[in-house]
Amino acid sequence: MVVVSSLSGFRILVTGGAGFIGSHVVDRLVSMNNRVTVFDNMSSGRMDFISRHLEDPTFRFIEGDLLDTDAIGSACKDIDLVFHVAANPDVRLGATDTRVHFDQNITATYNLLEAMRKSNVKNLAFTSTSTVYGEATIIPTPENYGPLVPISLYGASKLACEALITSYSHTFDMHSWIFRFANIIGDRGTHGIIVDFIDKLKKNPHELEILGDGKQSKSYLHVRECVEAMMFAVTESNDEVNIFNIGSEDATNPTRIGEIIVEEMGLSDVKFNYTGGSRGWKGDVPKMMLGIDKLKEMGWKNEWESERSVRETVKVLVGKGDNT
Ligand code: NAD
Repeated sequence: MVVVSSLSGFRILVTGGAGFIGSHVVDRLVSMNNRVTVFDNMSSGRMDFISRHLEDPTFRFIEGDLLDTDAIGSACKDIDLVFHVAANPDVRLGATDTRVHFDQNITATYNLLEAMRKSNVKNLAFTSTSTVYGEATIIPTPENYGPLVPISLYGASKLACEALITSYSHTFDMHSWIFRFANIIGDRGTHGIIVDFIDKLKKNPHELEILGDGKQSKSYLHVRECVEAMMFAVTESNDEVNIFNIGSEDATNPTRIGEIIVEEMGLSDVKFNYTGGSRGWKGDVPKMMLGIDKLKEMGWKNEWESERSVRETVKVLVGKGDNT
């Protein structure tokens, strides 16, 4: 069995490696001297997020779709470890399109697992989500919280992926790392509340529509800390299945995020219009903070609290910082 003990010198496939989080994963893996292959259908990925690596002879880019079993089958040849980051991450979409998360998350993950099984690839790191917990009654929510009752089709699809991964791990002697993320933000962000608010304020700098009552309390973590936590966990844990929450130890809310964006954009007298209700949309979990004791006990530390990560993200996305 291939066991990851230190993250250097491996042949690593990153699905979704041209996306927001995936491209940061790629940068970090390349910096540790791994031979990285990105597999991405470019549905939301961007070439400029990975173009810096294209001249590197140890780096490969494959434009391919996880729904194409031949394409993912050949991409898995001679690979030691897969970071499966590709997905449709739009939680809200499930309320209007009931198929997308089934195809892009569940079927895509099944296709990847089959490709790995056939090519004897034994290690998989997977980007899951806090939404698998649903409306947890224990906050901060630990990894062993249950029962897991997602309230969005996105959360349901990710929980199904987790179940496929744990059962493949057991049945086919694989190692897996499942990362349940809080809200991940940072440079190269292309979606989510901060991007939405900035776009809205660019169109109308006098008013900001905020979904819900603006009080939803959620934890935010900067993408660079998120990637470090993943690398740390893959290096330091080695059970058949390793499940970790990754987040910060506090939370903030849409009203406060709106205020920070208004400040950083140099605006004033912006009227906040709330659509009302305790959640932003059907499937929105109004209170989310993950327990991260498991990672902390192993030695990982969260550095920036939610609002610091929000502010640093806003700075780069409004052009006052380095968005590379
Ligand atoms: P993203 O949209 O920027 O990245 C997804 C990448 O996957 C894109 O490059 C896209 O082109 C690619 N992709 C999508 N479908 C594909 C397919 N069928 N075949 C090949 N490539 C495909 O999103 P992100 O925010 O970087 O999210 C990355 C992962 O982290 C996702 O699995 C998401 O569910 C998870 N996650 C993200 C957050 C967050 O706050 N951003 C929170 C929890 C979990």
